[in-house]
Amino acid sequence: MNTILAKVDMARPEAMETIRQAADILRAGGLVAFPTETVYGLGGNGLDEKACEKIYLAKGRPSDNPLILHIAQQEELNRIVREIPPLARKLMDAFWPGPLTLIFPKAEIVPPKATGGLDTVAVRFPSHPVARAVIRAAGLPIAAPSANSSGKPSPTRASHVEFDLGGRIDMIVDGGATEWGLESTIVDVSVEPPVLLRPGAVTQEMLEEVIGSVEIDPALLSKPTAAVKPKAPGMKYTHYSPKAEVLLVKGAEKNVADTINRMAAAEKAAGRKTGVMATEQTRELYHADVVLSLGSRENPAEIGANLFKILRKFDFLGVDVVYSEVFPEKGEGMAIMNRLQKAAGYHVIEAEDEKRSGI
Ligand code: AMP
Ligand code: MG
Repeated sequence: MNTILAKVDMARPEAMETIRQAADILRAGGLVAFPTETVYGLGGNGLDEKACEKIYLAKGRPSDNPLILHIAQQEELNRIVREIPPLARKLMDAFWPGPLTLIFPKAEIVPPKATGGLDTVAVRFPSHPVARAVIRAAGLPIAAPSANSSGKPSPTRASHVEFDLGGRIDMIVDGGATEWGLESTIVDVSVEPPVLLRPGAVTQEMLEEVIGSVEIDPALLSKPTAAVKPKAPGMKYTHYSPKAEVLLVKGAEKNVADTINRMAAAEKAAGRKTGVMATEQTRELYHADVVLSLGSRENPAEIGANLFKILRKFDFLGVDVVYSEVFPEKGEGMAIMNRLQKAAGYHVIEAEDEKRSGI
């Protein structure tokens, strides 16, 4: 399949031609990747079973991992959900359009293919002007999971989508780098009290300011087990994983750097290419084949925006083992650590004090 690549700048009048073309493809049952404020989405008609099937096929996504339906005006919600609980309304008023997905009881019209057979449906109203224009022009709820091959880090650039899905989808609308870089926050409002299923740019603190306390899915920050299964089916899969092995190292800054340098030296001696995910404040402390900075420790939004791009870069550079620092789990840090933990397969070690370890 030939994938159409189209750059779009919403400030220019010719943008509407590209948007119309994307909408035509979606209405005809095809697949179009487009930018949102979180990551690039792979869009298809969310009410068309066949289009949903194509999404699973293109991504190699397990069929029990439901899709998120994207809308461009709140009225469209009435068509796809059975009811809108009062707390959901509060969250919609506070955060839509924006990086928040809500889980509702689903309406009959939504095919089981879109929801992985569940009786609930995930809905998001994105704020990105390109996403909104495409969805509005299509006039349909658009199922749009992240536009990556299943299991790879989500795409934050059109070039990431092309690398993963070029030749497998009809069109990629290139609207530049995405703003947040981590997938949307997911809150299940079909239950009371609402449960946070996936942390994102809308933080626990922000949610609680609007609706009081929010339960946290216990599977979020530790390795899922048979007893503790994540409630968002997609959260149980290894995700975001580059080809490289990823290891998180926690502890005091100096100990983390010493421990990583020691382990990297041993790996290097064994002939493996080593990488470190550092920050602006710490990058000078490391000796590895490749040291990349996620951004400033004082700016978690920047770290979130860069995380997937940097994970992909290590793969591109053929790094075998990547060591990463960890971050405080408050605010946006919760989403960053959730994705990092998954990239590392929950492999975290405590940095050793050089003196105590006797080395
Ligand atoms: P993605 O669009 O690739 O970010 O993945 C969508 C995420 O939403 C996955 O983790 C899904 O498991 C989750 N999700 C979608 N629909 C539901 C639902 N009805 N109930 C719980 N989680 C859902
Ligand atoms: Mg995804």
